[in-house]
Amino acid sequence: MKKVIILGGGIAGLSTAIALQRIGMDVRVFEKTAELKPVGAGIILAPNVVRIFEEWGMTQQLIKHGQFLDRFVIFSDKGKSLSRLNENHPKQTIAIHRADLHNILLQALKTVPVYLGKEAAGYQQHSNGVTVYMNNGEEVSGDILIAADGIHSVIRKQLLPKISPRYAGYTCWRGVALIENRLNIAQELHELWGPNGRFGYLPISKTMAYWYWLINARPNDPLIAKYSVSDLIERLKNYPQPVTDILELTENQHILKHDIYDLPAIDQYVFDNIALVGDAAHAMTPNLGQGACQGIEDAYILGLSLARHPDHGLQDYQVKRLHRAKKFVNMSRRVGVMAQLEHPLLCRIRNVMMRTTPQAAYRKQNQFIYDYHY
Ligand SMILES: Cc1cc2nc3c(=O)[nH]c(=O)nc-3n(C[C@H](O)[C@H](O)[C@H](O)COP(=O)(O)OP(=O)(O)OC[C@H]3O[C@@H](n4cnc5c(N)ncnc54)[C@H](O)[C@@H]3O)c2cc1C
Repeated sequence: MKKVIILGGGIAGLSTAIALQRIGMDVRVFEKTAELKPVGAGIILAPNVVRIFEEWGMTQQLIKHGQFLDRFVIFSDKGKSLSRLNENHPKQTIAIHRADLHNILLQALKTVPVYLGKEAAGYQQHSNGVTVYMNNGEEVSGDILIAADGIHSVIRKQLLPKISPRYAGYTCWRGVALIENRLNIAQELHELWGPNGRFGYLPISKTMAYWYWLINARPNDPLIAKYSVSDLIERLKNYPQPVTDILELTENQHILKHDIYDLPAIDQYVFDNIALVGDAAHAMTPNLGQGACQGIEDAYILGLSLARHPDHGLQDYQVKRLHRAKKFVNMSRRVGVMAQLEHPLLCRIRNVMMRTTPQAAYRKQNQFIYDYHY
């Protein structure tokens, strides 16, 4: 039986481990951190991957900890509806706290060992496999290496030294508000777009709401790095009411800030017996909420390809994934340019365009993203 090394215990690495466990492969996961602590607050799992989790028998767990979303609605910063997305998929989108998702993925790994505190420094390919060199001097060998080590992947850097992450031009605050029964919000994702940035909020459980705010900024801007909840409330005081309410229910230790980067779309995910998956292959801006979803699609397709084509499964995975994942990278970046407009006149023109875009155009985009069948 082929021995598989998965590098990285993020969403893509753990999902790949589940997919390969299901087809009976000998899999081990190596993760650099000493404790698996997912970075981020909430996450949206769209219909294209809820279908995969359904097949893996995991949706009951996701629903138990998370929350169904009925649709995504984009408003102007004055509260005027601009577009409605994902309306045709009731009970097929699940929002959940990242820590809960991670626990559910880990629980699904029945037989796969996850070794923590193992940071890879590089690899060497040889005729009968691949060896990964860890920073602590250990070496691990296998037949196949799956690099799921994120946007700054050391494996990708060794394979494709010229490819590096690019700054998208905006930064993102994220947080979780303990709403309990103090605030009533719909089972929907609402985004408010305006010259003062894009604010999104949604429920991720019966008691918690997840929110995010994206504004244009220089990378590592020290002036805004230390914003507290009250600074955010001050900057967003002219946005519709739920914004302040949600921020007021957030504690400072529950906010995170990250500059947004993606990877230029690359043309190769497979290099003999090494495959890139997740952000290591196609990190994208968060504008379509598909980064992790595409990593989960990678995992699922990799499992199918290796099961169907034991001799050329990795190549089959690349053929099936390259085009679709690349499209998401480019689409996400384009949506970001539109969504992050700041000039009031340009914002008004964009809003008119969004309101007058025929529903059929949104439906076509939704079909590409959510109605994907494998
Ligand atoms: C603001 C924001 C909101 C988002 N919202 C959504 C959303 O709603 N829905 C969605 O689908 N996606 C969303 N995404 C994207 C999503 O978070 C990422 O695409 C996803 O988490 C990537 O998972 P990954 O496993 O590929 O990489 P990572 O999460 O980066 O995991 C990589 C793992 O590898 C480990 N690692 C790194 N280097 C090494 C090494 N050398 N050796 C061993 N281990 C190593 C890391 O510690 C980490 O555990 C969002 C992203 C952002 C920034």
